[in-house]
Amino acid sequence: MGCPNVDSGLAPADEGLLSFSRLMTGLLFAVSLPWFGEPLPAAAASPSGFIFINTSFENASPLYWEVDAANLIHVYLIYDQERSSPNRANGHWFFEVQAAPNTRCTLVLHNFDNVWNGRKGSPISDRTICYVSEDARTWRLAPARKTDDNCLRIEMAIRFGSLYVARLEPYRLSDLEAFERRIREDRRVEITIIGKTVEGRELEIIRVGDPNAAGRVFLRARAHPWEAGGNWVIEGLVERLLGGDKDAERYLGRYCVYIMPMANKDGVVRGRTRFNLLGADLNRKWDEPPDPAVNPENHALEEWLKSRIAKGRTPHLLIDLHNDEGGQLHVSRPNVDLDRYLRNMQRLEAMLREHTWFTEGSTREGFRNPGSIGEGLLERFGVNACVLELNANWIAGLNAPVSAERWKLFGARLCEALFHYFDTPCSP
Ligand SMILES: [Zn+2]
Repeated sequence: MGCPNVDSGLAPADEGLLSFSRLMTGLLFAVSLPWFGEPLPAAAASPSGFIFINTSFENASPLYWEVDAANLIHVYLIYDQERSSPNRANGHWFFEVQAAPNTRCTLVLHNFDNVWNGRKGSPISDRTICYVSEDARTWRLAPARKTDDNCLRIEMAIRFGSLYVARLEPYRLSDLEAFERRIREDRRVEITIIGKTVEGRELEIIRVGDPNAAGRVFLRARAHPWEAGGNWVIEGLVERLLGGDKDAERYLGRYCVYIMPMANKDGVVRGRTRFNLLGADLNRKWDEPPDPAVNPENHALEEWLKSRIAKGRTPHLLIDLHNDEGGQLHVSRPNVDLDRYLRNMQRLEAMLREHTWFTEGSTREGFRNPGSIGEGLLERFGVNACVLELNANWIAGLNAPVSAERWKLFGARLCEALFHYFDTPCSP
């Protein structure tokens, strides 16, 4: 639903060209007829061929733009803000540039002066990549360059009147819904609604496998809306588990997977970067029970988790999937007995290194991330919880840039890594 396609992208562009020629006719007419008043400035005619930036679709990023005298298109992303905090974030972009066919455009993306933990920080670097697509389904890399004043300059050729631009290959709520339609009739799958987002979208847990299996792993994706990688990993993992072959049987014979596939659905639909619609960060404040009034997404998960614990069904392992520029396994060290936890995290890292393309390693001794889901659930419930950051630009283990397909491959291989992680007896 609401997914852009090339047809809907082209139609407005063609209309725009017609309007443009009407405008030019009108301008010439105006110049010859003095009672028409002052002619419009030439800039309104946009001689570069650029017509419009469309953001009227699912997961498009809020923004405004202007074209300068040199025909550079300056795109100003709108910050996503945290409540009761100076923190603000940009990092997601997804929009459609409409222009005359065979137009070359230079875009300059602005507003990367993020504030994090009260300090300025930029979400872009010399390594930041950018994707473009004619149909918002098949993506390719576009040249992007960070400028000295912390903007991102993107060069592009618009061949057919429209080009989508995105930070990562998008994974929309409608993509998740289509995926769930494909798997929900499978007897090994159960999808349970556990609550609603700020805007009333249903939040679900997908179970894949036998609830009585020896191992139980919980995965969450998309606490932060810009980080689409986690959803591609989930798709790859579930498709592998449901493959029906001997290996898939072997995996599901040993462990059962519980997934919260898109924690921040509102943020994804609205093209936000980090927070929920009331400014709550879904990977913070896990050191206390979530406030249902401002953070219903985390509240729903906490209630589900508590009911699992009450039934003696605590997940043996909890992995929260994220994207960043580093790609490490985040192992936090709060002031609790850490021996068992650190041993388990070491084993997880070893299994990831052996069976997936993961090479980035874990956070070092002394690392803490107070309030993150890894640290909070370990502190309060003793859960073996961690944050797995997937590098948003480059996959060192494959020596290749990130892509939806490569993240799906990681998900498929994660099944094997989990199989070996669970080969020693599980304890909650
Ligand atoms: Zn994140």
